[in-house]
Amino acid sequence: MSAQPNFLHELVGSMSQGAAGNPTVAMIEAAFAHHGLHWRYVNMEVTPEDLGVAVRGARALGFRGFNCSLPHKVTVIPHLDGLGESAAVMGAVNCVVWRGDKLIGENTDGKGFLKSLASVADPRGKSVVLFGAGGAARAIAVELGLAGIRQITIVNRAAARGSELVELLKSKLNLNAEFVPWEGDYAIPSGTDIVINATSIGLYDADARLKLKLTTLNKSMVVADVIANPPRTRLIRDAAERGCQALGGLGMLVNQGIVGVQYWTGIEPDAAVMRRALEQALGL
Ligand code: NDP
Repeated sequence: MSAQPNFLHELVGSMSQGAAGNPTVAMIEAAFAHHGLHWRYVNMEVTPEDLGVAVRGARALGFRGFNCSLPHKVTVIPHLDGLGESAAVMGAVNCVVWRGDKLIGENTDGKGFLKSLASVADPRGKSVVLFGAGGAARAIAVELGLAGIRQITIVNRAAARGSELVELLKSKLNLNAEFVPWEGDYAIPSGTDIVINATSIGLYDADARLKLKLTTLNKSMVVADVIANPPRTRLIRDAAERGCQALGGLGMLVNQGIVGVQYWTGIEPDAAVMRRALEQALGL
């Protein structure tokens, strides 16, 4: 970390396909500016064929790290020098950081969720129902497992994906995990502490309904959504109405950015500044 770099700007990148208009840029650059860092966060459109060359380029050009999103989260791994603990379990990377002279792949999706969750609950010893078994669900489940939850139920439409995630949690983390196929309105078992929507249901649709029996939610539960836009999904509104502690997806997104900035710069960035910039970029 240095506020007075050798070059005019230190660089952090974001490698993806279709990267235009990424609101993360505004959020990360707001943190750099606020903390007086002469750093830039730049979007780079990288095709799958060019990924290896792009990572070599980032090394050669002295990038301080980079994010990578679909379709590069898995295929970037052979181009790195190692993986962080949760990224190794998941087999997916979205944030790359220098540790000494090694380029290490991390996954900040689940870390951002946990950091957001920490504002309302400690996951240790908790019983969790998680809807979804895609990339976000996988990242969240693995971090929750590493954080010491007691039990997790994965509820997903596609049985193959749901069972695969449960097998991963059992075999790699020795976690008490079960899969329940999602048929009709799911009744949350009593004794559940944390309910999470990690599906894409609700994205850009404030009225989209998650198929669950609302009467099984009670005020001792934390109900969290990964959907950041709209920030108050139907699930979040319904859960708040039933007295649950409701946690929207914007916090996860901001905290993912915070973890990335911490990894790259070593500073603890101002969360309010980053959240404001993100909300502005999303037009909220
Ligand atoms: P994936 O495509 O990997 O997974 C999508 C998941 O949603 C699958 O479990 C899929 O079920 C389920 N799903 C989608 N539509 C339906 C439906 N109609 N009925 C039941 N299940 C459905 O996506 P990701 O996991 O990468 O992302 C999921 C969401 O998380 C996205 O909307 C994204 O915006 C959000 N996200 C938010 C982040 C944040 O920081 N706030 C970070 C990362 C993601 P099935 O397996 O049956 O197809």
